[in-house]
Amino acid sequence: MIRSLLAISLAFAASTAKAEELPIFDAHMHYSHDAVIQVPPEQAAKILRDAGVRKALVSSSDDDGTQKLKAAAPDIVVPALRPYRRRGETGSWMHDPSVITYLEDRLARFEYEAIGEFHAFGDDIETDVIQRMIELARERNLLLHHHGDREALDLIFKSWPEARVLWAHSGFDRPGEVADALATYPRLWADLAYRTDMAGSGGVSAEWRKTFTDYSDRFMVGSDTFTPERWYYVGPHADYSRSWLADLPASLARKIAYENSEAMLSAK
Ligand SMILES: [Zn+2]
Repeated sequence: MIRSLLAISLAFAASTAKAEELPIFDAHMHYSHDAVIQVPPEQAAKILRDAGVRKALVSSSDDDGTQKLKAAAPDIVVPALRPYRRRGETGSWMHDPSVITYLEDRLARFEYEAIGEFHAFGDDIETDVIQRMIELARERNLLLHHHGDREALDLIFKSWPEARVLWAHSGFDRPGEVADALATYPRLWADLAYRTDMAGSGGVSAEWRKTFTDYSDRFMVGSDTFTPERWYYVGPHADYSRSWLADLPASLARKIAYENSEAMLSAK
């Protein structure tokens, strides 16, 4: 009797702790063909739930992975369409017109909130393939999830000034440079995937703290599961995010953890 009561109270304590845990919107996930085999959809869905990841912007090479994960976790997965069918296309896809046929086919058959994450640097944006991809996004008012440099970012907004763009890894730029881009483009957001530079031993650096405070509605976390192995770190990554977010005011932490991603998706 005592033992079962203890079990019940421990279970209650665990569920209370989970409920109080900061919910995470993981704005940068991939579930590509090799991940589907190594971490099957039901297991991937459980990893997300156990990590307290309430929503995830997911894209895959090819897109089947996203569709399978969405079927396993429809309440969590926010689907994005990548212009890649397999690994190794990140540097060549913008010169391959068959990418457009692929995108048009998927867009006709499935629902998406975003196109990306796509890799494009400098004047890559001016290629016919990328210009047509931007047009396809524009026709459907889809978010663009872009991995690349400031020059490419400028050219995206030149092509489509009202675009909503999520800048993967915040362009890998310094906080001041990210702030400059955010000041220039009100409909630009920035994910912090694969960045460890805002959470040193002394907590969030002064430079990042200022940028997060000045642009409190524009940053979000992401784990970037670009290889199958990284799926095993979704839980630890969510905890890592919570640990450095705890160094910020609670309302700002909630925004970066979850609310900004939701607002970005509904800012159509
Ligand atoms: Zn990525």
